[in-house]
Amino acid sequence: MTSSVTVALVGNPNAGVTSLFNALTGANNPVANYPRVTTSSATREITHKGVVLRFVDVPGIYSVNSQADDEKVGQDFLLDQSPDVIVNVVDAGHLDRHLFLTTQLIETGIKRITVLNMIDEVRRHGTVLDTEMLASALGAPVVETCALKGEGVDVLLDTIVAQVAAPAADAIRLHYDTHLEAAIVRIQDHLANLHPQELTPARSRWLAIKILEGDDTIINRESDHPELIALVTKERDHLAHEHDEDAATMLATSRFAFVNGLLREARQQHDDPDQRFKLTRILDNFFLNRAFGLPLLLLIMWVMFETTFSLGAVPTEWIKSGVDALTKFVDDTLPAGMFHDLVVNGVLAGVGGTIVFLPNIVILFFFMAILSGTGYLARASFLMDRVMHKFGLHGTTLIPMVAGFGCNVPAVMASRIITNKRSRLIAILISPFMSCSARLPTFILFAGAFFADLAGTVVFAIYMLSIASAILSAVVLNRLIPGSGSDAFVMDLPPYRLPTLHSVLHHMWDSAQGFVAKVTGVILVGSIIIWFLQEFPKDVAYSQDYDAGIVQLEGQPDGADKDEALRSLKAAQAQEKLEKSYMGRVSIAVTPVFKPLGFSWHESSAIMTGFVAKEVVVATYAVIYAQDKGSTGWTDAIKAAMPTATAVAFMIFTLLYAPCLSTIAIIAKESGSWKWAAFSVAYSLSFAWLLALAAVTIGRLLV
Ligand code: GDP
Ligand code: MG
Repeated sequence: MTSSVTVALVGNPNAGVTSLFNALTGANNPVANYPRVTTSSATREITHKGVVLRFVDVPGIYSVNSQADDEKVGQDFLLDQSPDVIVNVVDAGHLDRHLFLTTQLIETGIKRITVLNMIDEVRRHGTVLDTEMLASALGAPVVETCALKGEGVDVLLDTIVAQVAAPAADAIRLHYDTHLEAAIVRIQDHLANLHPQELTPARSRWLAIKILEGDDTIINRESDHPELIALVTKERDHLAHEHDEDAATMLATSRFAFVNGLLREARQQHDDPDQRFKLTRILDNFFLNRAFGLPLLLLIMWVMFETTFSLGAVPTEWIKSGVDALTKFVDDTLPAGMFHDLVVNGVLAGVGGTIVFLPNIVILFFFMAILSGTGYLARASFLMDRVMHKFGLHGTTLIPMVAGFGCNVPAVMASRIITNKRSRLIAILISPFMSCSARLPTFILFAGAFFADLAGTVVFAIYMLSIASAILSAVVLNRLIPGSGSDAFVMDLPPYRLPTLHSVLHHMWDSAQGFVAKVTGVILVGSIIIWFLQEFPKDVAYSQDYDAGIVQLEGQPDGADKDEALRSLKAAQAQEKLEKSYMGRVSIAVTPVFKPLGFSWHESSAIMTGFVAKEVVVATYAVIYAQDKGSTGWTDAIKAAMPTATAVAFMIFTLLYAPCLSTIAIIAKESGSWKWAAFSVAYSLSFAWLLALAAVTIGRLLV
């Protein structure tokens, strides 16, 4: 007896599984145009090219783990018989529904072939399908058939024989929510420990997903392992607590998003509106429109930044008055001396100067919560993916990039979903160009000081520059980094939804907490250190002219002129003191590097301290200008200190220059080498310097 290969024909009811079974094997089993005709598996062997193929007509299933009785036969077959090859039969005219099962079959880890059956009807409708794209995204060969006429059957037989000989199936993975992914991994690891011999990684992952999806068959079989059952219960409770919906719904949403995104790219016509998601498709036709989808995205972004700036101004004033009142109180209460200066000019200036940006941060996160909650953020990525294609790039890098708007550290970590090593490295290296929320205060401060009414638009432009720099860098790195290959990639398009108030508030609260934690942590410590650095050493010879001038002025009769002259003398004195401090000396030493950009040593200090964390840039200014505040405030002091072109160059430099320490560390970890982290620093510094130079040069020509 020659050993045979088991080939399971699997599909939704009415996909044409039995028709195809008959066409392949020459059988004559009953076919009907309504579901559930086949309820037990029929089997028949044939030999093709010397290989004995045992075909099984698996009763139709909609899902690998629904609890429906009539699907039980098919589901148990997949679980227990583990066929050698799955021939996944889909109705090519109803891909939206039929590919849902495909997303589950992908996870069985069994070799597959996707059969686009009823291709005759698709052609009659004039729909064009990109089979190459489908094949790469689904990680399996695609064969078009018309089972009724036996069309494509020979090709299918050849493909099956080729698949039998081919190495194991490619690991295509759907993207799940991070909590969900973590739960899957924990259950998977537990299962793998229980059955180290029988379970391949792919299979234990599949079983873990099935368990979370609500298929208790596996759980019931493991009733003698109470720890597994306890773990599953814990994970389910945890997920229910973190999200408004259960794990099964979350998984289904991800599957839908995958199929929806895939079909947007692989199908020219959309004549198959699945009623459940009809609204989503109508909205997608609008928001993803080839002509105005991208301009609409830009408009939405502009509104977002404009509002972040203008709406934020009001509560910012309240916080500012509070900080000013507190500063005045402490100023008056504490006895004069070093401690007084440390608290007033160091701590209160740095922390107070940064905390005022809290409203802007919270408003930006409010918008991000709305955009991601409604599903529009995924559309934005989809539109950007199209742009990336124009540059010969895959959109894989977009998922980390979008995460980068919050903070670059999770953005770099998000690149883990990319399996191709080279694509992953590129994604890691461009993530720091995404403007994290730590940079927002700098932009708000400078745009507000220099551009008044246009400030929101300037902040918007800075963010656009951030995206453009990331894409440009991806193009450059794609050329520079040797090797080739990239992932098959589908941008998920989840259904549109109204975000829940709870999730939006949760998002805003998180961002507020994170910002306050930074201000009371790294900013507080940073401000104290910066204060010391700009206050010491004490034993420096200062010019006596200022003191003499001040004494002389104070003897004169009062008047506006006197106040003004006094102020400028004191400012000049403070300036001299700063320049002779540690901070001043070091900054002055590196300033020649920034001379072409028009930066003074103040900017050099802010840039250097900003390496630690980008929020410190603003805190540095606040501390440096604290003594010089007078009646005008440090915003005006900054404005008086440099021309507009330099301010723009400084914003650009802050946006692009070397990521903060945490990001550098995570780049080293995720890329597996400090060399890449060093490369990232060097690359971003050069990039920032060149772009800032371009900006200041153009700016000087304009003014
Ligand atoms: P099953 O439920 O998946 O086993 O599907 P059947 O094989 O019973 O077929 C369901 C219906 O689809 C029947 O009416 C078939 O005649 C029809 N059908 C199957 N394959 C094709 C095809 O390739 N083209 C067209 N036009 N109809 C088909
Ligand atoms: Mg059938």
